[in-house]
Amino acid sequence: MSQTVYMDHNATSPTRPQAVDAVVRAMQTGGNPSSVHAMGRKALRVLEDAREHVRAAVNAPKSAQVVFTSCGTEANTLALQGCGRKTVFVGATEHPSVMRARTEIVRISVDVNGLIDPFQLEEMFAGGGDDTIVSVMLANNETGVLQQVEGIARIAHRYHALVHTDAVQALGKVDVDFTALGVDMMSLSAHKIGGPLGVGALIVGKDVELTALNGGGGQENGLRGGTQNVPGIAGFGVAAELAVAGLSDMARVKVLRDRLEARIQEIAPDATVIAAMADRLPNTSFISMPGVDAETQIMTFDLANICVSAGSACASGKTKSSAVLGAMGLGQDIAKSAVRVSLAHTNTEDDIERFISAWGDLYQRKGAARSAA
Ligand code: PLP
Repeated sequence: MSQTVYMDHNATSPTRPQAVDAVVRAMQTGGNPSSVHAMGRKALRVLEDAREHVRAAVNAPKSAQVVFTSCGTEANTLALQGCGRKTVFVGATEHPSVMRARTEIVRISVDVNGLIDPFQLEEMFAGGGDDTIVSVMLANNETGVLQQVEGIARIAHRYHALVHTDAVQALGKVDVDFTALGVDMMSLSAHKIGGPLGVGALIVGKDVELTALNGGGGQENGLRGGTQNVPGIAGFGVAAELAVAGLSDMARVKVLRDRLEARIQEIAPDATVIAAMADRLPNTSFISMPGVDAETQIMTFDLANICVSAGSACASGKTKSSAVLGAMGLGQDIAKSAVRVSLAHTNTEDDIERFISAWGDLYQRKGAARSAA
């Protein structure tokens, strides 16, 4: 059997060996970081080292709190439910963990590239923003489109709204700078950057009055109760450091991604690369193969030992047409036939060739079936 080609890094990225080592070491160290004795202090040191690595990875100031959570979803939920603001404006292409964090969200519509129009946002503040939180993702998980979060934060702050950004997909792929973006809160997730599954963080700026959803024993400065997952957090710290160090490899990854898109457009001029002209993550490509539904494509690629997905990974394992593309106003024909390819440090030119060959074969076969019909 051929080697697996893994091109689904936006779903989860393979754990970096150094992160695995850090997890194992922390498990061997043991201890509860809330205990005052020597074992507890050792665990606390591991925890606080990791906190500083995560803080540094996103250039968050000392005054900001890095609150460890069980995942990116929990970080988004804590930000939106714990902020105490009544009105919630969210981008129309946000991840379900933001969309479902509150019942009474107001969507900020997006254009055909998935971008928020700042003028529209400004109009939404007609009634003021004192009791509002705005949540806009830095990078979209399906299309890779980068929002102008810095500008959005400036507008929102003029109306005294709080600003949260979901940076889960951006970290390790582009420079993420909490301070330069001027946001109040930022969500992160370890498994998207080669850290362990089931660990995340919410960065909380000093002026945010956040209330814990689960106070428990007062851990994480009273913002997230429960004994911390020290091994997972240790792995997160190492992965965060490596993610920033590995940013230089993204230029190579972008060359691979651009070649993949160019070759597909040569094979199939009727294929659509979604938001091709927008500012996007260098690793992500969302491509519609005309007339072939995403599920068929994914199964075909899987048989060729190539792992890709149809937009966001769905817990049921089923593929559904993308809500993100729906929000961007793209038709069902495109949304139903779009497959996401997301690359990272593990990918090579050979991977790209294998994918193009499998994609081209399927496209020709389906084209032949269409003309025979
Ligand atoms: N936000 C975005 C943009 C994501 O892509 C994901 C995961 O797919 C999450 C949040 C949720 O992260 P986690 O899997 O750690 O809950």
